[in-house]
Amino acid sequence: MGSYPGLGEVGGKRVLVRSDLNVPLDGTTITDDGRIRASVPTIRALAEAGARVVVTAHLGRPKGAPDPAYSLAPVAGRLAELLEAPVAFATDTVGESAQQVVADLGDGQVAVLENVRFNAGETSKDEAERGAFADELAALADAFVSDGFGVVHRKQASVYDVAQRLPHTMGALVRAEIDVLTRLTETPERPYVVVLGGSKVSDKLGVIDNLLGKADKLLIGGGMVFTFLKAQGHEVGRSLLEEDQIGTCVEYLRRAEASGVEILLPSDIVVDSEFPTGDTRPEPIVVPASNIPASSLGLDIGPDSAAAFAAALADARTVFWNGPMGVFEVPEFAGGTRTVAEALTKVDGLSVVGGGDSAAAVRTLGFDETAFGHISTGGGASLEYLEGKELPGVKVLED
Ligand code: ADP
Ligand code: MG
Repeated sequence: MGSYPGLGEVGGKRVLVRSDLNVPLDGTTITDDGRIRASVPTIRALAEAGARVVVTAHLGRPKGAPDPAYSLAPVAGRLAELLEAPVAFATDTVGESAQQVVADLGDGQVAVLENVRFNAGETSKDEAERGAFADELAALADAFVSDGFGVVHRKQASVYDVAQRLPHTMGALVRAEIDVLTRLTETPERPYVVVLGGSKVSDKLGVIDNLLGKADKLLIGGGMVFTFLKAQGHEVGRSLLEEDQIGTCVEYLRRAEASGVEILLPSDIVVDSEFPTGDTRPEPIVVPASNIPASSLGLDIGPDSAAAFAAALADARTVFWNGPMGVFEVPEFAGGTRTVAEALTKVDGLSVVGGGDSAAAVRTLGFDETAFGHISTGGGASLEYLEGKELPGVKVLED
């Protein structure tokens, strides 16, 4: 029998763990098990301490009712392989099956409850409805461990309300994520370089706002760059453009200049005449960023820009990267993302990749995950933290 940090003796106790097991599935085949692997250390530590481990998690966005397409059954199977131990599976979350499976657990054994979002109470905005469901979840356990970093920015029953009903603590994964994000926000080693890309400026306004005051350099690529280029007076053809954010970008460029933060925008862009759909063969052309043809769409930063970004990263001591530099899903437009990822692996200091698509990009482009200082498992949660917002699922553990 043993103890778990923050909970004390857990041997023989039923411990509910909220993990983030929201993996991509193709039918019932898991195409990227990164989140399951990230959840293993906490589950294993509890099992080794003799706890009866009850794992709760969600998968996808079912509409508050059972939907076989979103069953966690394949995930429970994969978890058993990774733990090299049997994992019991409850076919409901808090009903008869769950109660029976939990009652049958021996010390050191693990069970997974069916998708928590099959229950309308999980994500309800109605406090009473959410609370009633949290009561049922809490009745299955003696203590709670919050380890789903991807969901700690959500005020949901299995993340927030259940913590108010049981003795609780942070799991190892949430603790590690918070530690890294604290290093990025409190006393980053300098030079501190932030790389932003992805699809929209409007998704990232809060982060840009907050980091403009903290970073030494801001490198911008991806779909959001065209609104910045437009803000500088360039035409961007048919590239992704958010007309209503041009003024905001003008303001960011002005603020950066005033505060001595260097904003680096690409000097060249890879364009095509069509957005790649898979039906036509891409015909990439590189053009100057100041001369994007009216009929073209910008789909990646060009090779000169990628080299300049890599050079700007070479002496960085702290790097945060969110958002691919181009449409990396298509090989012809993955070059900028690849070069930036490569540069991050060489950083002598802390390099952090945040954001769901950015983390996926690093993996699908074949990089060794251990070459990065940290790859965050929670896109939304890490961005909200960097925006300076409070994460309800973390706050509730501190209260
Ligand atoms: P993350 O999930 O890492 O925060 P986002 O969701 O903001 O990243 O953006 C990822 C998406 O941005 C990718 O699917 C990628 O194809 C798209 N993207 C990147 N560059 C462009 C571009 N130039 N035009 C259109 N989409 C782009
Ligand atoms: Mg995304």
